[in-house]
Amino acid sequence: MFKETLSEAGEEPPLSPFLKSLKQFRSAGRSFWADVPDADWNNWRWQLKHRITSLTQLQRLLPTLTPEEHGGTLLADTKLAMAITPYFFSLIDPGDENCPIRRQVIPRIEETHTAPWEMKDPCGEDSHSPVPGLVHRYPDRVLFLVTDRCASYCRYCTRSRLVSNASGYDFHPEFDKQIAYVREHPAIRDVLLSGGDPLLFSDEKLEHLLRRIREIPHVEFLRLGTRIPIFLPQRITPELCAMLKRYHPLFVSVHSNHPRELTTEVREGLGRLADAGIPLGNQSVLLRGVNDDPIVVRALVQKLLMCRVKPYYLYQCDLIAGSAHLRTSVRKGLEIMQSLRGHTTGYAVPQFVIDAPGGGGKVPINPEYVISRNEERVIIRNFEGKMFEYPEALDGTPLFAPPKEIEEPELV
Ligand SMILES: *Cc1c(COP(=O)(O)O)cnc(C)c1O
Repeated sequence: MFKETLSEAGEEPPLSPFLKSLKQFRSAGRSFWADVPDADWNNWRWQLKHRITSLTQLQRLLPTLTPEEHGGTLLADTKLAMAITPYFFSLIDPGDENCPIRRQVIPRIEETHTAPWEMKDPCGEDSHSPVPGLVHRYPDRVLFLVTDRCASYCRYCTRSRLVSNASGYDFHPEFDKQIAYVREHPAIRDVLLSGGDPLLFSDEKLEHLLRRIREIPHVEFLRLGTRIPIFLPQRITPELCAMLKRYHPLFVSVHSNHPRELTTEVREGLGRLADAGIPLGNQSVLLRGVNDDPIVVRALVQKLLMCRVKPYYLYQCDLIAGSAHLRTSVRKGLEIMQSLRGHTTGYAVPQFVIDAPGGGGKVPINPEYVISRNEERVIIRNFEGKMFEYPEALDGTPLFAPPKEIEEPELV
């Protein structure tokens, strides 16, 4: 279906100073919080308490606030609240209006424009929800929403109808009902805790929930979907990791979009999770002006491997209301995928998906490597654009099958 012309295959981009800078692990600058004692700065509760949530704070911290951001922030409380941890805020380059960190968390007035094809619930989660807070779309697994709060709010959040509780959705997960549903459905062998961010819970509260789900005999596999390792790496304490490892097999999916998010703090937090035996995956969303560039994505996925994280999914941006200014084309996503496969470590290559609008689930989207097939062969191309043929009949029978008359050798 998608026949992309190959962009100068095999030509590796040189390691420019820009790319080099993306590959470095730096710690957060703390520019505005230089006076804060380390003990506070490194305390996740301090970080949460001091989040940037108002226009006044934002204006003080970011004198280069644009009219679009000013207007967006004024209106954010009626749609998706603004909240940014001081740690994550300190990764913003104040001199760059187009800073990729800034674009992800500072509201913009464009968020109030809704295109006709955009939706409040683009993945049709509410229509696949048998009990409040549970989405059962696939036969053997459920999405278990635990809270409507996050450490910081991504402006393109696919769940912005309920997350931050700004638009009057009134989200109330009911753990007893959610757990009862899982218990009553033996086909469910995989429970994905997300939200909102499950790592916002205290260790005790999260452990209580994990224990109750683990007790269900047919639940084999637990997962947490969280951006806290990126927004609030201070939360990844040794105590949290020691608790999580009691609930194996447990995987964690993080969400990182730009190599600059991968700081030394993040690498250390992810390392603690990995040391607890937790396999780590990353989900990225393609976003205009953030990571719609093969060089940026390549630096991201390679840096993720350095953090012991397997790039898992690369998402086409959902059709969430007010996200047009962040949307990239499917063609751009395919170009990025093509720039990865073969050009870098296979483990670094995520699966590009579209979460089908209206509720069809994740659909894999791949560049075309099969050029043609006929009665005799399949013609394929490799990452360099070179053609190869594989002999096989159209119906899949091996082309040079032995003639049927040959007798079976006699068994003695
Ligand atoms: C993404 C998702 C899952 C998990 O899908 P995987 O492909 O197994 O990662 C489960 N349920 C819902 C509703 C989802 O959106």
